[in-house]
Amino acid sequence: MSLETDGLDVLLVDGKLTAASGGATFETIDPATEEALGLAADGTATDMDAAIGAARRAFDETSWSTDVELRVRCLRQLHDALVAHGEEMRALTTAEVGAPAFLTTGPQYDGPVGDLAFAADTAEGYRWRTDLGTSTVMGIDSRRFLEREAVGVVGAVTPWNFPHQINLAKLGPALAAGNTVVLKPAPDTPWAASAVARIAATETDLPAGVLNVVTSSDHAVGAQLSTDPRVDLVSFTGSTATGKKVMAAASGTLKRVFLELGGKSAFVVLDDADVAAACGLAAFTVCTHAGQGCAITTRLLLPRARFDEGVDAVAATMAALAPGDPTDPGTICGPLISSAQRDRVLGYLDLAREEGGSFACGGGRPADREVGFFVEPTLVVGVGNEARVAQEEIFGPVLVAIPHDGDDDAVRIANDSIYGLSGAVHGGDLDRARAVASRLRTGTVGINGGIWYGGDVPFGGYKQSGLGREMGVLGFEEYTEAKSVAEPA
Ligand code: NAD
Repeated sequence: MSLETDGLDVLLVDGKLTAASGGATFETIDPATEEALGLAADGTATDMDAAIGAARRAFDETSWSTDVELRVRCLRQLHDALVAHGEEMRALTTAEVGAPAFLTTGPQYDGPVGDLAFAADTAEGYRWRTDLGTSTVMGIDSRRFLEREAVGVVGAVTPWNFPHQINLAKLGPALAAGNTVVLKPAPDTPWAASAVARIAATETDLPAGVLNVVTSSDHAVGAQLSTDPRVDLVSFTGSTATGKKVMAAASGTLKRVFLELGGKSAFVVLDDADVAAACGLAAFTVCTHAGQGCAITTRLLLPRARFDEGVDAVAATMAALAPGDPTDPGTICGPLISSAQRDRVLGYLDLAREEGGSFACGGGRPADREVGFFVEPTLVVGVGNEARVAQEEIFGPVLVAIPHDGDDDAVRIANDSIYGLSGAVHGGDLDRARAVASRLRTGTVGINGGIWYGGDVPFGGYKQSGLGREMGVLGFEEYTEAKSVAEPA
C-alpha cells in the first residue's frame, strides 16, 4: 500500500475509510515550499456525530474494554505496521509538518511509534485488580479489591507541531486501557492522522468503532467532543487559551478533561556553569523545529556578571543554525507551520522592539528564503521578565535572555510565569543545580543537559500548562477509572 497513492482524504468512522459527508476537502500545505501537498477530508458536525456514536457503541456493545489480549495484539499490529511504513511516514512528516528530517527518527515519528509498544506492554503487565485485604466494618468482614477499568469514549484533540508524538501518545494508552477513541487532529496536519487511520483500518484487527479519526478545517468539529454527553473524557493538547475553552465546555456534562497546554520554560544558567557550553545548548534547543515545541526553553536566565559571555555564545550558535530545507539531514531549524504562525512570531519581534528590547542575533525573515514560512533564530535582550515577550508563548525560534542575581533570584524569575511545563538548570556543582531544579514549579526539568523525554516518562504541566500527565504508567492510568469492590470475606 502507498499512502499517498491510495489517498489520505479520508476519515475513519465505524471501521470504514470514507469521504467527509458532502465530499468536502481542504488542502494540506508544505510549509517549506508553500505548495499544496494534496487533499484532506473536511469532516463535518455530521461526521463527528457518527464517529462519537460508533465509539460509544464499540465501547458499550463489544468486548474491547475487557479483552486485554485483543487490545495488546491490535496495538502491536499497529506498531509493526507503522514501523513498516516508516520511510514513507517520515517523508510525509517532513513535508506536511516541516519537521527537520533528523527529528523524524526521534520524537517526530520513530519515538512515538516505539511508545505504542510501551503502551501494549503496560496493558499486558498491568495489575488490573489489586487485593486490598480484609477488614471488619460494623461487624461485617469484607474482602476489598481495587479494580482499574477504562473510562469509556475518549475524545482526543491535538495540535500540529509534533502530530505523531501527540496523536500516538493519546491513542496508545487510551486504547491499551480499553477505551474507544475519536481523534480530531489539527487542521494544519491532517495527513499525519489520516495516514495512521488508513494503516489502522487496513493492516490491523482493530474492531470497527474502536478508533475513529475525523480531520476537519473547522475547529468547531473538535469542540463537539467537549460537549457531547456520549464522550467520557477529553484529552486535549494545544494552547492554554483553547484548553480553557475545552474545560469550560466539558463542565456541562462534567466529563473528565486531560490537558497538555502551553509553556514559557526557563533555561537557568548558574554562575559556576560552563556558560558557553550551556548557552550553545540553549540556542540549539530553541532553534530545533523552529522553536515549535511546548516544552522548549524560551527564557534564558544568565548570571548578571556573565550575561555578555552567554549572549555571545547564543548568537554564535544561532548564526550557525540558519533556517534550512527540512529534508536536508543537517537542518535543525525548519519553517514555521503556516503564514499565520510566521506572522504571529514576527508580530512578537515587533513587540519586543516596542518593549525596549533589541536583537543580539536574528530579528526577522531570513534574506535568502523568499519561499517558505521561515523566521531567523532570534535572541532578544534588553527586556525584563515582566515584558510580554518574556511572559507569552511565542512558539517560534525566539529566545529571551534575562540577567539574574544568584540562585534565589533565578528561581524567582523562572517561576514568575503562568506556565509550569518544563525547565533546565546548568551548573558546575551537581548538588547545587539539583537544589535549584527542585524549586522549579514545572512538570519536567533537565539538569546539565539530561533529557527527560521518553515513552516511559510522564510528561505534563504545573499551573496553566495543564492537568494530568501523558506517557509512562501515570499517562496510561489517566485513561482508567478506579473501582473499589467489596465481597464477604
Ligand atoms: P490550538 O489550541 O490552536 O489548537 C489545538 C487543537 O484544538 C486543534 O486541533 C484545533 O483544531 C483544536 N481546537 C481549536 N479550538 C477548539 C475548541 N474550542 N474546542 C476544541 N478543540 C479546539 O493549538 P495549536 O496552535 O494547534 O498548537 C500550539 C499550541 O499547543 C501551543 O500553545 C503549544 O504550547 C501547545 N502544545 C502543548 C503541548 C503539551 O503537551 N503541553 C504539546 C504541543 C503543543
